[in-house]
Amino acid sequence: MSLKTAIRETYDGFKSLITGMRITAREAAKPTITVQYPHETLPMPDRFRGHVKLILDPATGQAKCNACGLCVRACPSNSLEVDGAKREGEKRKSVSKYELDFTTCSLCGCCVEACPSDAIEYSKEYNVVSRDRDDFAKMDIYKRLQAESEEWKKTHPTPPAPPAEAAPAATPTPATPVAATSSPAAAPVVAPAATPAKPATSAPVPAPAAASPAAPEQKPT
Ligand code: SF4
Ligand code: SF4
Repeated sequence: MSLKTAIRETYDGFKSLITGMRITAREAAKPTITVQYPHETLPMPDRFRGHVKLILDPATGQAKCNACGLCVRACPSNSLEVDGAKREGEKRKSVSKYELDFTTCSLCGCCVEACPSDAIEYSKEYNVVSRDRDDFAKMDIYKRLQAESEEWKKTHPTPPAPPAEAAPAATPTPATPVAATSSPAAAPVVAPAATPAKPATSAPVPAPAAASPAAPEQKPT
């Protein structure tokens, strides 16, 4: 190897080293984009389609679904099973069962489009895993909503009942006006003298001498 070749190779190697170190330094200064999965996950984009899920009504904490069954009829894969019941004090039905067969669902979206109440949407779950196929053949979507509802209740405690109406306060009786005295100065009130005690009547009262009948005069015999 000639001296000229050795110098050129040394120069090329040094230039390559500097180029590599410059790229490394530039990337090291950028913010970290690595996600520590599964401890961290990225938010899914809006158009991501996970399995369908029931939507919670933020006003009531219950499902918006009223079990009308239109999504069941719209599903081309016959993947949905829905049932409903009337809750106490309500006029219309509410969903009580919502099962999805995720093994046959094609995520076509017909059910979401057919729903007149906007009660279902695609979930953002991308890492649903199981060792049991049945977990996907009968996915209990209603149970998942109930878990959401429990979380909702924690942040929306039931307001306390309004207090019973308090009894009206007793009307104060006006004080009896005091008769004006001739003297403006408040004269000290003098207690009336105690009435002298009556003489004791227990002392024996001498009975008036009864007029004794005169003794009959004895005639001298
Ligand atoms: S996304 Fe399509 S296949 Fe899946 S449940 Fe809805 S209608 Fe059925
Ligand atoms: S999700 Fe919508 S279409 Fe399906 S049963 Fe409920 S209200 Fe009806």
